[in-house]
Amino acid sequence: MAQILCRNVVLGYEGKAVVQNLNFEVNRGDYLCIVGENGSGKSTLIKALLRLKKPMSGEICMGDGLEADGIGYLPQQTVVQKDFPASVREIVLSGCLGRFGWRPFYGKAEKEMAAENMEKLGITHLAKRCYRELSGGQQQRVLLARALCATRYMLLLDEPVSGLDPAAVQEMYDLLGKLNHEDKITIIMVSHDIHAAAACSDHILHISEEPLFFGTKEDYVKTDIGKSYLSMTGGERRGKDA
Ligand code: ADP
Repeated sequence: MAQILCRNVVLGYEGKAVVQNLNFEVNRGDYLCIVGENGSGKSTLIKALLRLKKPMSGEICMGDGLEADGIGYLPQQTVVQKDFPASVREIVLSGCLGRFGWRPFYGKAEKEMAAENMEKLGITHLAKRCYRELSGGQQQRVLLARALCATRYMLLLDEPVSGLDPAAVQEMYDLLGKLNHEDKITIIMVSHDIHAAAACSDHILHISEEPLFFGTKEDYVKTDIGKSYLSMTGGERRGKDA
């Protein structure tokens, strides 16, 4: 059984469809990149996967142990978030809220999980530092550790490398590749960088008003839409095998 199965899904606002005929599935251990032009509905699809938005029609089923609140979500960074006046440890710990339920203090299990994920992402030494004083790459690692506290199965990332310098971009892709390969965490990443997406993922969903493609990366790069999108959006090849 797939972790996510999207059947004939239509998403939109106020009765007006943004994306139609969405049919795709995500299985445990997959690395799916969702690509498409600005305004094509990528963020809308993310909201639907997080159950923050109901499809106008069709259904999104979750299985294989996954529930919508068991997805670790890394939102697009906003200016306000970048300036958040909390310690790294507090931010990572707050990822446990969904899983353990709200309580006025954190218990042993949450603290252990936060410590484990900070260690995994190499930010233990930053635990007491204030989030807003960190570099962009360090901040993303903190948010990734936070997202990991919310899940054992799946990370959903919205443009996780935007605004990062090239070294931090590579570091982020390496970390995600490692979590996918070693910890078998399923990754769904929204990206506008098709070159990086083609380099690091194993499946691609290219959306527009109508879905243009869903399948393996190998098949995508052979299609007309894949070829034209790859040549149109030139730029540095990045990702794990760049
Ligand atoms: P992307 O993430 O691919 O840039 P979005 O999912 O943000 O695209 O937006 C898809 C379309 O839905 C756009 O035309 C956008 O204007 C519209 N849209 C997004 N959010 C809302 C909203 N809250 N109300 C009405 N229309 C929206």
